[in-house]
Amino acid sequence: MKFCSQCGNPVIQRIPEGDSRLRYVCEHCQTVHYQNPNIVAGSLPIWGSQVLLCRRAIEPRMGYWTLPAGFMENGETVEQAARRETAEEACATLRGLSLYMLVDVPHISQVHVFYRAELVDLEFAAGVESLEVRLFDEADIPWSELAFMTVKRTLECFFADRIQQVYPVRTESLAPLQQIKKT
Ligand code: ZN
Repeated sequence: MKFCSQCGNPVIQRIPEGDSRLRYVCEHCQTVHYQNPNIVAGSLPIWGSQVLLCRRAIEPRMGYWTLPAGFMENGETVEQAARRETAEEACATLRGLSLYMLVDVPHISQVHVFYRAELVDLEFAAGVESLEVRLFDEADIPWSELAFMTVKRTLECFFADRIQQVYPVRTESLAPLQQIKKT
């Protein structure tokens, strides 16, 4: 950040009184510009024994497969964000959303949240951010071509839990070297 979004003057970095972290502060209007983690909301869409994946048409990780997910917008709930991203990327409609996976990714200041959900029907298609959208059996999942570690972990947990047909909410924390620490 270089300029204050309130008044347009340059900002500096300093620790405000009573705070313990460096913040961007505008010395003209005294606004403190807090920066906090972003929430990425997504879904694990299920049709029978298959799951739906999207092949990304945009960077980062263009050409790789992902679960539909994206940054939450102001004014919506996490579940609404997951539904919206699924509609945008896969033109698909979900029902029976159930919170399933929460992955902290502190080194990039993100929290990824995935809901398990059923596809309402087979009316899906590639949205503008996708090259291709299709259903996969577990045996056909392109594990080496998945876009993100959070997606890989969500799918791994899902197929493991599916054996017992029990899906507790999973929480994990992802480190920079993509090591997984279960919590
Ligand atoms: Zn200002």
